[in-house]
Amino acid sequence: MNFTSVNPYTQQKINSYPALGAQALDRKIRQADRAFADWSALSLENRSGFFRKVAAYLRSEKQRYGELMTAEMGKTLKESIAEVEKCAVGVDYYIEHAPTFLADLMIPTEAKTSFVAYQPLGAVLAIMPWNFPFWQVFRFAVPSLLAGNVGLLKHAANVSGCSLAIEEIFRACDFPTGVFQSLLIESKTVETVLKDARVKAVTLTGSEKAGASVASIAGSQIKKSVLELGGSDALIVLADADLEKAAKVAVQSRMQNAGQSCIAAKRFIVEKAVKTEFTDRVLQHIQAIKQGNPMDDTTTMGPVARMDLAEAIERQCAETVRQGARVLHSGNRDGCNIQPILLDKVKPGMSGFDEETFGPLAVIVEAKDEQDAVKLANQSNYGLGSALWTKDLDRAERLARQIQAGSVFVNSLMRSDPRVPFGGVKLSGFGRELAEVGMKEFLNIKTVWME
Ligand code: NAP
Repeated sequence: MNFTSVNPYTQQKINSYPALGAQALDRKIRQADRAFADWSALSLENRSGFFRKVAAYLRSEKQRYGELMTAEMGKTLKESIAEVEKCAVGVDYYIEHAPTFLADLMIPTEAKTSFVAYQPLGAVLAIMPWNFPFWQVFRFAVPSLLAGNVGLLKHAANVSGCSLAIEEIFRACDFPTGVFQSLLIESKTVETVLKDARVKAVTLTGSEKAGASVASIAGSQIKKSVLELGGSDALIVLADADLEKAAKVAVQSRMQNAGQSCIAAKRFIVEKAVKTEFTDRVLQHIQAIKQGNPMDDTTTMGPVARMDLAEAIERQCAETVRQGARVLHSGNRDGCNIQPILLDKVKPGMSGFDEETFGPLAVIVEAKDEQDAVKLANQSNYGLGSALWTKDLDRAERLARQIQAGSVFVNSLMRSDPRVPFGGVKLSGFGRELAEVGMKEFLNIKTVWME
């Protein structure tokens, strides 16, 4: 079995990577298990020293890693380089805050001393998707490893080059053998890894199908899991919003990474009074997108990552139109290269409303008023990262509390930021990444009570 990386823009094969055999896999798990004892015994300051090297290394090698990402999954080189830089920022953030996050928490009780200590669990398996091939991995690995865990990465099959490159980063920064390893394995082998007693927990970012399978296996082994799954997030635009800014950010949110972001604004829900004006402005921004070669500086949107994803978007678009939507900007397709699509008159019951769409497809949904907008936003199986546009911040705060999502960003681009927790509700998953709570997902939160 080989994993083959194909450039989605050119459709040319980049490389082939042999899958790990059973013995090699066992060796890697053994190495992880052995590494844990020494790694977790190091002081936090000591572990931080390794991560300081990682931040510097990422910054010095951002062009090379950016090119690799763009070649394997098609995002523009600018986006790829920005992603590598974001990983370095994430490292800086956790180096600065880990001493506070991981400090014992003293709790006054009738005991002489009572406190909480935060201790690592061991080897954590991370199953990651291809859409942010570096960031998804680093936002797991940095807090987990810094806290003393060790990591095993099962990356998406189409970004095996990135998977090995990330392992190389840890090696180049002199991490002890076994602290971070890439496993080139098929998804069916995940069960074996997860059932291995030396593997203590799992985090998965991906589809709900994969999440349900992995969480079931983890549950059967009484192992902790964190699931970061899909989304069909609403971007609500109320009549008093700054329409130009809202339209610009809506298009950016939906179309960046060729629409392949879990937290992309997938449904633009617009109050009737401003729908025409908002839609016109959105259309102008969509018309300005230059789809093409992701290595080219002037390209603003690359191809989608795989042919099956391009076909899925085409099917969802055709279905939504058949169900009554109106095409305002049609996405001609050439292989994985899809021009951005804008559909109007989208309603519940249509594919473009009910399903997650993972490509450059924006839909406009009309709402009668603010309460109708919130109702439509919540009429989804998902709940990841919504956005709300209104100049009235009291109203925004009231409505933000009513929206069923892991995050609500008001008058701003919904994004993952190391300083704030990230995750979802409903079919978007459970558990959180980033910030202090993200760092504590894979720790034993140990109570010590002394009389
Ligand atoms: P996917 O098919 O679920 O793949 C994601 C990862 O899971 C890959 O490494 C994949 O490996 C693995 N996998 C798939 N099926 C599995 C199974 N049954 N058991 C174990 N591992 C399995 O997801 P995708 O379609 O490539 O990625 C896009 C999805 O990820 C979207 O739904 C998106 O919204 C979601 N996502 C969520 C977040 C978030 O933070 N909430 C962020 C990014 C993406 P193979 O490649 O070998 O199949």
